[in-house]
Amino acid sequence: MRETFLPFSQPSIIACDIATVINVLQSGWITTGAKCAEFEQAFADYAGCRGAVAVTSATAGMHLLLHAMDIGPGDEVVTPSMTWVSTVNQIVLRGATPVFADIDNHTLMVTAESIEPCLNARTRLIIPVHFAGASVDSEAICGLADEKGIPVVEDAAHAVGTFYKGVPVGGNGVTSIFSFHPIKNITTGEGGMICSDDRQLLDRIRSLRFHGLGVDSYDRTTQGRAPQAEVLEPGYKYNMTDFSAALGISQLERLDELIQKRTCLAERYGRGIAAIKGVIPLALPDYDIRHAWHLYVVRIDPEATGINRDDLMRALRQRNIGSGIHFKAVHRQKYYRDAPACTGADLPNTEWNTDRLCSLPLFPEMTETDVDDVITSVQHVINGASR
Ligand SMILES: *Cc1c(COP(=O)(O)O)cnc(C)c1O
Repeated sequence: MRETFLPFSQPSIIACDIATVINVLQSGWITTGAKCAEFEQAFADYAGCRGAVAVTSATAGMHLLLHAMDIGPGDEVVTPSMTWVSTVNQIVLRGATPVFADIDNHTLMVTAESIEPCLNARTRLIIPVHFAGASVDSEAICGLADEKGIPVVEDAAHAVGTFYKGVPVGGNGVTSIFSFHPIKNITTGEGGMICSDDRQLLDRIRSLRFHGLGVDSYDRTTQGRAPQAEVLEPGYKYNMTDFSAALGISQLERLDELIQKRTCLAERYGRGIAAIKGVIPLALPDYDIRHAWHLYVVRIDPEATGINRDDLMRALRQRNIGSGIHFKAVHRQKYYRDAPACTGADLPNTEWNTDRLCSLPLFPEMTETDVDDVITSVQHVINGASR
């Protein structure tokens, strides 16, 4: 039994991250400014896209994007139900209709095949979700979307540092939205980034991010807001602070090292979990990716293990081990169970997984002993249950 609690996630914040934030706090300029512009440039360079806009969260980014694409009543947006609720909430808040595509049973990601039956004349947008640090099969999905003339925006909240066929997510021409929430691969406290090659779209998002002003929240020549700034259309207030951006720059520099650590831990999990009957890890996609190992997700088969997912999580908690659920399917949440505006095909794989999946602890500062502790505890709980 562990002496200390092992959380399922914990951000990696070290001295250099802290020093850079302190510098900004002492600089006399703490809201959106030079650091934010620098972070946007650094992120765009890393991903290999033409431009990037930093915002207060991925959710805010999705809100801006749906507005900038004029998604509204009568429009359908295809996305999985196996996702965080934020995207679907934003679709509904725009007055549009989410249409749920089912997922592959063992990668938890939508495919061109699962998306196709959801498309019709009202479909305005497809939002696939990269899962756990793996990438969707973008080529197949974009091929289908191109054929039908429907744009694609990728939810890349889990995919900071993920590569697809040798190219970073965000760098293949598809507009992508990243998250820097503290559980994600790098953090800015709260934050998000919209990456795109579409300069017109980015300009509108940049304006909507800050009240709909015709110039940005920060003008490098005036070191503040340009006096001639004028509202072009009503906008929001989703600009990132400079101290968040400074943390982001520092974290981005550490990203590859953080992913390396996550990868070692995930591989150790893989070897240990393989020996436990009825605990099923996710499958790796059959195309070339660099996995960013945002989450280590397993599915608990109650028939083989003698215990259901919720009881296993409770038992792990008693043994001082945290775990998480990514995700409870959106169509199983109270509002969406009752929402008449929600449509979708049958979602057998989403249903099967939502009752069985569980994220085990995974974060860069975890040790190999911690991983072994988790594996031993899972085995122990299962042994106790089947006795
Ligand atoms: C975390 C997450 C989001 C939302 O990110 P925020 O920055 O917290 O708004 C969106 N989609 C998925 C799949 C996520 O995991």
